Amino acid sequence: MVKNITIDIVGNFADGKTTLVKSLTSESTLRHSEEKKRGITIRLGYAHFLIYKCGSCGSFSRYEKCEVCGSKSDLYYRVSIIDSPGHKTLMTIMLSGATLVDGAVLVIAANQKCPQPQTQEHIEALRIIGVKDIVVAQTKIDVVGKERAKESYNEIKDFLSKNGYDNAKIIPVFAAHNINVTSLIQEIGNFDVKRDESGKTEMVAVRSFDINKPGTDIKDLKGGVIGGGLNSGKISVGDNIMIYPGMFVKNNWKPLKSKVMSIQSEFGSEKSVSRGLMIGLETDLDPSIARRDSLSGSLIVTGDNVPVFKSRLSVDYIPIAGKFDKPIQKGETVLLNVLASKVLGTVVSNLQNKVILNLGNSYLPYFLSDKAIISRKINNVWTLAGSGKIYE
Ligand code: ZN
Repeated sequence: MVKNITIDIVGNFADGKTTLVKSLTSESTLRHSEEKKRGITIRLGYAHFLIYKCGSCGSFSRYEKCEVCGSKSDLYYRVSIIDSPGHKTLMTIMLSGATLVDGAVLVIAANQKCPQPQTQEHIEALRIIGVKDIVVAQTKIDVVGKERAKESYNEIKDFLSKNGYDNAKIIPVFAAHNINVTSLIQEIGNFDVKRDESGKTEMVAVRSFDINKPGTDIKDLKGGVIGGGLNSGKISVGDNIMIYPGMFVKNNWKPLKSKVMSIQSEFGSEKSVSRGLMIGLETDLDPSIARRDSLSGSLIVTGDNVPVFKSRLSVDYIPIAGKFDKPIQKGETVLLNVLASKVLGTVVSNLQNKVILNLGNSYLPYFLSDKAIISRKINNVWTLAGSGKIYE
């Protein structure tokens, strides 16, 4: 059975990330160029590719014809790529979609010492999110000597081990010439994702938009579209949904009630989806409600699931060891990422890492035991500090 997987490709433009993404996605981008012309997928803006598994030698390929032995291969994974900007200040953007990530490719350039500060922070984020499967694409091998390439390899090895990823493979790739990309595909194909559709439906919105062209006749108007993915459970065309926190009306948040009219992914129309696929959900909402990402950060649920929904929450906080001199202080402002939401909170109290936060007007929808990721300011830059389960 074909599975869906969402991976994060983490690294800088300068590290050769763009070239690598191009090399991974060229085939499927061409194949789906017709679909790309349709409104929804083009606005989602995620990259994607397919992984096939060879029936004869068991290798993974990007093509139906095995890249290793030439035999016919069957579709195995549909891969959605979440883009993670390398800039440190954009870290919080990475965290917004992080809950949807199943595995990650870390792009690390051989011509720079590892770890660079943002690489360190990215791996901490992956660990906090609970991503177990990662692989390193070691780039820029062609611009350094043999000696430095080896030194870089050892630095990366050490870095992975220090961060709890001893088993992650390091693949030297030269993506512009397609060298070793197949080895990278083997590792991604081996990412072991477990799927359980039986849990409560929890879709997180990372963006939202209005797909109608200006001047569209009212009878032809399409409803607001929510882009994102499922954290758990499943969602189908025709489902009744609730969107939290909804709209801020008369000083109160009012959840939105809607219906799933269609589901689009980069691979086409979908009837029913679960975790692992980035989708555009067309709703019956007034499209203006979804305009310009106004619903990003929302939580979408079905049935009688009602998330907790308030402006105060308590976190069983686990700080990243050795990163901050002082524990979280009463009165300190911290940045919270919960599911796809990102809000500021003021620390009401911190008793032995039971951190109570006041969110002001920014009500945050969540389920108990969802994870809160906390960033604190160092020199005016939000810096990943730790995480914990929300217990109240
Ligand atoms: Zn083969």
